This record gives sequence, structure tokens and C-alpha cells, in this order.
Amino acid sequence: MITQEGKSEGWMSEVGGGQILLVEDDEVVATLLADLLERFGRVRWTASAEEALEIVGRHDWDLLVSDIDLPGMDGLELIRQVKPLRPHLAMLVLSGHSSFDHAVAALRVGADDYLTKPFDPDAVLEKASALMALTRQRRAAAEEVVLAVGAHPDDVEIGIGGILLRHVAQGHRVILLTLTGGEAGGVAVDRAAEAARAAELLSARLIHAALADTSVSEGGSTIGTIADVIDEVRPTTVYTHTSRDVHQDHRNAHSATLVAARGIARVFCYQAPSTTVEFMPTRFVVIDEYLERKIEVIQAYVSQVKVRRYLDEELLRATARYWSRFATARYVEPLEVVRDSHDAPVAAQVNRYTAPQPVLDVN
Ligand SMILES: [Zn+2]
Repeated sequence: MITQEGKSEGWMSEVGGGQILLVEDDEVVATLLADLLERFGRVRWTASAEEALEIVGRHDWDLLVSDIDLPGMDGLELIRQVKPLRPHLAMLVLSGHSSFDHAVAALRVGADDYLTKPFDPDAVLEKASALMALTRQRRAAAEEVVLAVGAHPDDVEIGIGGILLRHVAQGHRVILLTLTGGEAGGVAVDRAAEAARAAELLSARLIHAALADTSVSEGGSTIGTIADVIDEVRPTTVYTHTSRDVHQDHRNAHSATLVAARGIARVFCYQAPSTTVEFMPTRFVVIDEYLERKIEVIQAYVSQVKVRRYLDEELLRATARYWSRFATARYVEPLEVVRDSHDAPVAAQVNRYTAPQPVLDVN
């Protein structure tokens, strides 16, 4: 039974968990579609694009299904206007013209898929199901913000280059925080340019702080630097060095991150070339699809690749291959798990000790 938005209670059914907005001026077609779609959840029908535009902001819809030919504003204009309002919402257009041009125009303005009338019911169900999943994926991805903390340029790329590429491929926002210029290992200005290039290849934003290489403390200035970035980017996942490392900057970056990221739900530690045999990972992330690009990213560190044995391509490959013995894949990056929760723990109020160091935002 159809109830139209504005005329009656509005909702047509409440079977599944989804919320579907249906815009169709032909009542017979609308009834047919609603009967099909209501197995996915609540279906709300309106015959007018103007009305749809008004109610699209009222609920967190999982799917918008709209006819193209509508009285007044047409379906293409509706989609064009909904896109910026609800960027995650998957949209399916219905074309009465079995015309490819209409479908192409709809996809161009932001629709995700189209169907031409008359419909095959199975195609409606298949597309609706896939598109609702797409909305949920986009919603989840938009909420995932990853912060990778490294003491020196190239630390995070070596430890979790593949994992970061995987995050980016999933639509997650990735931010790199490099604490020092790496001036003890090369010319700072060259290393900064290389770090910027590597971040660009990762499609990540780089925040390059100016702590002193080899003198990174585990205290106030380091905690303050990391906490400032966390306040700004609001990460849901944080990666940092393991504490099982002979380099003091790595160990101190680890300790400082744990304090600064105390309110973050997911915190993991990665290995570096100076990590000791005590490194004890329990999370193994498959990077088969990302290893080659990880190596390309690391090759952006031109000044280091020539002189650092640990940047040898064969060693990078062999390390990822070695850790695959704990997973059913070919290449793996290992992580120690500090915390892996779906909700952020209640943050203890920890004093920030001292004023943070100035942060130079390179990217
Ligand atoms: Zn390092």
C-alpha cells in the first residue's frame, strides 16, 4: 500500500534496516518498485523532485531511486542538487526512454547506476542491494581517518607503506606526521622534498614537524606535537613505532604517541629497520596488491636509497614475504596491537606539560 510523503504517514514499510527514498510520478510504477524495495527496509515515496529535495536532508538515506521524467524539476537536476548535500548516498535513476543518452547524463551528474523501463524485478533487487552497500561503504570510509606517526622521513613508508596504500584504496583519509627533518641522516631540505614526494605518491597529507633528529624526547614537546595533530585531524586509527627498537627517537616517538593518542580507538605499532627481535606482532595485514607501489614510494627517498642497506628493494620484498608465514597471502606487513576498539576509550585528562613545537605543514 502506497502512502505519499505529505499526504499520509509517509513510510510504506519497515521490514529491513534500510531507508530508501523513491521519486516517481507514475503511481503504478511506484507501487511496483516499492513492493520490490521494501524488503530492504523503509521506502518513502514522493512524486515530486522538489519534495524529495526537501526531505533528503531529514534522514540518513541508504538509497535514492529517482525517475528522470518528473513534473517540475526533473530527475537529473534532483541528482545534481542532492550530490553535494548527501555525497555518500548512492543514487539509481530510472529512465523511461530506454535511451542511453539519459543514462549517461545521469551518471555524469552523480548517479551511480541506472535502469530502463520496463524493469526486470531481479535487476531492481540486485542493483538496489549493491547500491545500498555502496552507501554504507562510503559512509564508513568517510569516517575513517588514519594518522601514521614516524620519527624520521621514510619510517612509516618502510613500516606500513602497503597498509597506508590499502587505506587510501578503501577511501580512507591518510595523514603522515613526520617528527623530525632527518637532518642527522642527510641534508634536511632534500629529505623534506623526498618526504613530500613520497606522501604525494601515497596520496597522503604530510605534516612535517621540526623536532631535533636523534634528540626526540618522550615527553612534553613530542607529546604536544602529536596531540596538536590529533586535535586537528581527529584520527580513528593511529600507527606509530614499536617500543622494541634500538633507535631512541623511535622508542620515544612510540611512548609519546601512546600518551597523545590515549583517546583514539585503534592504535598499532609498526617495525623499522632498527626494530629488535623482541618485536611481537599479532596483526598481519596482506599487502600483495600494494607491495610494488610501496617500493615506488620508498624510491622517492633518492638520497637514502643509495646509502641505506635497509632500503634495498630485495630486503623490502623479502621482509614482506617473511611475515606472510603468519597469513594466507604472499606479502604482509606486521603490526603490534596497542588497542583495537570500535569506540574511543574515555580519554583521561593528561596534562600537556609544555607548549608544542611549531609544526610546518608541507602538504
Ligand atoms: Zn627512523
